Amino acid sequence: MRKTHAHDDAQSINNVLERRAFQLIAISCLAVFLCAVLTLLEGDILICQLLISSVPPLSFCLYLAHKKHTKLSSEGFIWTLTFLLLSILWLSNGFFNAGLLALPCILIFAAMLGTSSSFGAILALFSLNIALMGYLHSRGIFVFSHITNEKTRPIISIIIIGVSGFSMRLLIKDYTHAIRRLGRENAKVKESEKAIAFLANHDSLTELPNRTLANERFQEAVQRLTLSHSNKKIALMFIDLDDFKTINDSLGHAAGDRYLVAIAERLRDATRPRDTVCRLGGDEFLLILEGLDHERDASLVAGAIQKRISRPVITGQHKLVCSASIGISVYPNDGERYNELVKKADIAMYRSKEVGRNTFHYYCVSMNSDALDRMQLLDDLRTALKNNELYVEYQPIVLLATGKMVGAEALVRWQHPTRGIIGPDMFIPLAEKSGLIVDIGAWVLERACHDIAGLQHHHATDFYVAVNVSTLQLKRDDFKKRVENVLASTPISPQSLELEITESELLSDSAEFDEAITQLKAMGISLAIDDFGTGYSNLGYVQKIKVSKLKIDRSFVHGIQGNSDNQAIVRAVHNIADGLIMSTVAEGVEHACELDFLKRLGITHGQGYFWSRPVAIECLIHLLQEPHTTSLNNELFLS
Ligand code: C2E
Ligand code: CA
Ligand code: CA
Repeated sequence: MRKTHAHDDAQSINNVLERRAFQLIAISCLAVFLCAVLTLLEGDILICQLLISSVPPLSFCLYLAHKKHTKLSSEGFIWTLTFLLLSILWLSNGFFNAGLLALPCILIFAAMLGTSSSFGAILALFSLNIALMGYLHSRGIFVFSHITNEKTRPIISIIIIGVSGFSMRLLIKDYTHAIRRLGRENAKVKESEKAIAFLANHDSLTELPNRTLANERFQEAVQRLTLSHSNKKIALMFIDLDDFKTINDSLGHAAGDRYLVAIAERLRDATRPRDTVCRLGGDEFLLILEGLDHERDASLVAGAIQKRISRPVITGQHKLVCSASIGISVYPNDGERYNELVKKADIAMYRSKEVGRNTFHYYCVSMNSDALDRMQLLDDLRTALKNNELYVEYQPIVLLATGKMVGAEALVRWQHPTRGIIGPDMFIPLAEKSGLIVDIGAWVLERACHDIAGLQHHHATDFYVAVNVSTLQLKRDDFKKRVENVLASTPISPQSLELEITESELLSDSAEFDEAITQLKAMGISLAIDDFGTGYSNLGYVQKIKVSKLKIDRSFVHGIQGNSDNQAIVRAVHNIADGLIMSTVAEGVEHACELDFLKRLGITHGQGYFWSRPVAIECLIHLLQEPHTTSLNNELFLS
């Protein structure tokens, strides 16, 4: 971009120079011609001949200038004029000649159009010649007559002054134009410098201070505190929005951005002018609250912020609601360095997430070991696959009308060498954050297809398996290939495989995602939307990609018989599914009364502890063989 600007500028300077050279040569040609006519009238044949003889080279220079050979034409032009003037001076009355007036004019031409060496050479040449003339004249060796023609001298002088004036005018015009332009450029540079400085210290979306400025503000606050010799505290508050990913993924980045801007505004409103609100990135914000009498005071602000954030934000036709998890660290109690305090506030925030989100925690030392614990767990997870520590359990999916078990969902578990069995809720988020989910997911898919192939072979050929996939897997170029390979290496048909995609991840507006979905559909694999009702589905998209099932999140199913809100939601999901010819699976069915209610609402499938907990493949086969044990006898299979 900058290169193009520089190129444009150079081009426009060249254009001006070309124009100027042509104008000056043209006017000088005219002046020479006029002078020739005047000297002819005056009868000064020699000078007239000299002037006429310069017309062809000047015309040639004019031609060159017209052809845009500016350098060559300019040099030719100023040197022709130089020699013409010197010859006239020597052959007429030397420095008494009116032509001497043309000297400054030639120097202006040389300064404007020539190189600096030409200018120097011409200046030196003139000075030497005039000095020589003066010397010869004063010594009487070469005496110049100071009798000049009184009639033509004024006219020739006017012509020379006119040409000088004209070139001077052009020069000044170019100069003032350049100065003005420079002034404008300067103002622009100053403006962009200001913008760059702002961008370097602020987040471009919300215009809140960024990490760097937050650090500076913190140092300033510490300095003020030290100078005041008071016992006041500074609190750092780490705020993370709980459901932002859902908003971003389901409604797109533009809606996500609008939401963040609205939240930034609320945070600014909730704090005092002396406090700093900054955005650390994504949906993470940091508040620096200074001058607190007691660390407890930060909890009032935290409460106020949570209240403000929980109010819906209206963007377009959407009403978006989020909550926030907050962590607080305090200077100087928890540390003195900025990075250390931010890290501790982050750790405290993580605790808020762990205990169910939408709450706040102050940092305490024991949390540190939890953070280390998580890091250790992630380390262990990296080797879990290699060490065969993962295994898959299956939870039956039942057709409500007949009570028949028609499929099962594959759910991964981790047999940790020292901690015992770890559930997916504990390690799947870690796997997603670290990217390990791609390999883990591929392994689960392969394991599930092999297990179900065995089951189909001996027991039920139309039994299907539902496997959870993360968007991270779907966005990989090789996902389709991996699925094809798994299907090719087992005898199960694509129709027996269902992939479950969580609603919140369904609509991440990416081309890779769309492409993967289309290819999977083309292979004959069916898709189910998991945890339906917890995200913001675009039903048009759901219809477009021809999803076969909606899995109603268990939070709506639990205690449905006594909860009219949940009844309304499940009824609405059923209606949507019915309209789009999709089946519905109620997740988390635990009690017969829930089952009765769901049946009455027209829900087609069910899954839950009512029938069975997730079990090993052998146990699943056993359940299939003994269908009576699958009904109201769940105690048998509680693991
Ligand atoms: P999900 O896909 O919604 O799976 C259903 C979860 O609900 C399972 O938890 C299951 O044990 C539990 N559940 C089933 N019936 C009942 C019930 O009647 N009551 C209650 N309270 N819970 C019930 P689980 O196995 O702990 O899995 C948790 C989540 O982990 C899954 O939620 C899924 O999102 C994720 N997950 C599990 N395996 C995989 C996997 O292989 N890949 C990926 N990407 N995610 C997985
Ligand atoms: Ca699932
Ligand atoms: Ca689910």
